[in-house]
Amino acid sequence: MSKIIVAGGGHGGLVASIKLAQKGFDVTLFESKEKGKAGLRQTDAVDMNAFDFAEIPVPDYFRRGKNEITFVPKDTVHGSLTLPEQNDVSLLVDRIELIEYLFGLAEESGVKIHYGETVVKPILLGDRVAGIETDKGIYYADLVIDACGVNSPVRCNLPDYLGVNRPIDKYDVIYSYRGYFNRIIEAPQPDTLYNIFFKEDGNVGFCWLITEFDRVDALVCRFYKPEESEILETLNMLHQENEQMGLDLVYGGNYGVIPVCHPLAILVSDGYAAVGDSAFMTIALKGSGLAYSIKAGKLLADAICADENGCFNQENLWEYEKSFFKEIGFSAGSFAVLKNMLPFMTADDVCKLFEMKLVTTEELSALWGNKSELLFNAKTVASIKEKVRLVRDEPMLKELFASLAVWFTKYAVLQASFPGRYDKKELLEWAEKYNKFFDSIKKKD
Ligand SMILES: Cc1cc2nc3c(=O)[nH]c(=O)nc-3n(C[C@H](O)[C@H](O)[C@H](O)COP(=O)(O)OP(=O)(O)OC[C@H]3O[C@@H](n4cnc5c(N)ncnc54)[C@H](O)[C@@H]3O)c2cc1C
Repeated sequence: MSKIIVAGGGHGGLVASIKLAQKGFDVTLFESKEKGKAGLRQTDAVDMNAFDFAEIPVPDYFRRGKNEITFVPKDTVHGSLTLPEQNDVSLLVDRIELIEYLFGLAEESGVKIHYGETVVKPILLGDRVAGIETDKGIYYADLVIDACGVNSPVRCNLPDYLGVNRPIDKYDVIYSYRGYFNRIIEAPQPDTLYNIFFKEDGNVGFCWLITEFDRVDALVCRFYKPEESEILETLNMLHQENEQMGLDLVYGGNYGVIPVCHPLAILVSDGYAAVGDSAFMTIALKGSGLAYSIKAGKLLADAICADENGCFNQENLWEYEKSFFKEIGFSAGSFAVLKNMLPFMTADDVCKLFEMKLVTTEELSALWGNKSELLFNAKTVASIKEKVRLVRDEPMLKELFASLAVWFTKYAVLQASFPGRYDKKELLEWAEKYNKFFDSIKKKD
């Protein structure tokens, strides 16, 4: 049976490894963290449909309730906006429980796991990825699945001419700090428990504060790597404006990098496939990538199982790329187009969006409730044009919404020109157009 290496214990790689080991493939996974140490100590929202899609059973203990989100603009004059209660689909999970569960399933399925072994780079034989080098040795395989996350050393060390890797640019990722602080029970308590603050210009970032039973979850996100002093200043600001937040760090206090850009144009090469954050598979506006990774892991496993000759060349893995873009990628790209507005906006512009009802509760609910089909459909451009009419007296917003209509029109053409059948030259040409499009709409500082 074919030998498959999974580089990194990302969620998509774990799902693919479970499926493939169950089908009898010889799967070895390399995870840099020691056994029991992978995952983030935090609670995150995940679309539970992804588990059904991947045919992964969901244990009951995953379900930690759900959040009711409130958007808080720069000042109180404009009022905040609380989304109606979400349906049962998007639920909170403990990230360590989730990853431990997936590692457990992988072990039960027969995946060989090398914990505490760091992947350094891919091994190439000509144009083909033939294995990996780790800090402990060299391993060859018929296929390498890259699930090492956003800064994957496998993807980053692929030769440029393969068209897979793309350098990370400003606004492609956000740098996050997340800490859980003590909750001061005697202090005045907030009316809403999950607040996302848009108090800074769009090219800076945002924060959230989630008040839980006995702790307060604070997240600070920036489009640049912030100095520690800036994080401390922002945490102090959150503490001053939200008296229930204490300043004793209970746990967490970790820095992270979250892709908020369009997915890779080319996910596959001879002997190589990327899944999850290593292929920038997140919802650009929220940086949520769990559901996409889990679903993509299943799509990848299906394409690998369908490759009867076990060649795992780009042509055969193309089925994964095609199904990914159809199921996830184009919708993820639409979020990236929409997110592209943010860096152009000031905090005052964000207030105006709320004040003028340019962004409706329904739209935000669709966004946060993973109902992208309600936002991105044949009527998208028409509804943006309607917004252009509403902001005719606000020149900056008018120009921005007019640009958004143009971006979505061009993006629709890009989607339509995605190669219907595998042709290397056509794929490389399409990838160039796709990347150029996203470069062209980016704010230039
Ligand atoms: C603060 C924060 C909040 C978030 N909130 C949400 C949310 O609410 N909902 C949501 O869906 N997503 C959220 N995300 C995003 C989410 O974490 C990722 O999109 C998701 O984990 C998918 O990424 P992945 O599984 O592909 O990679 P990762 O989660 O990055 O996993 C990569 C794995 O590979 C291992 N690894 C890395 N490099 C190497 C190496 N060289 N050798 C061996 N192993 C290696 C790592 O240890 C890790 O186990 C959040 C992220 C952050 C940082």
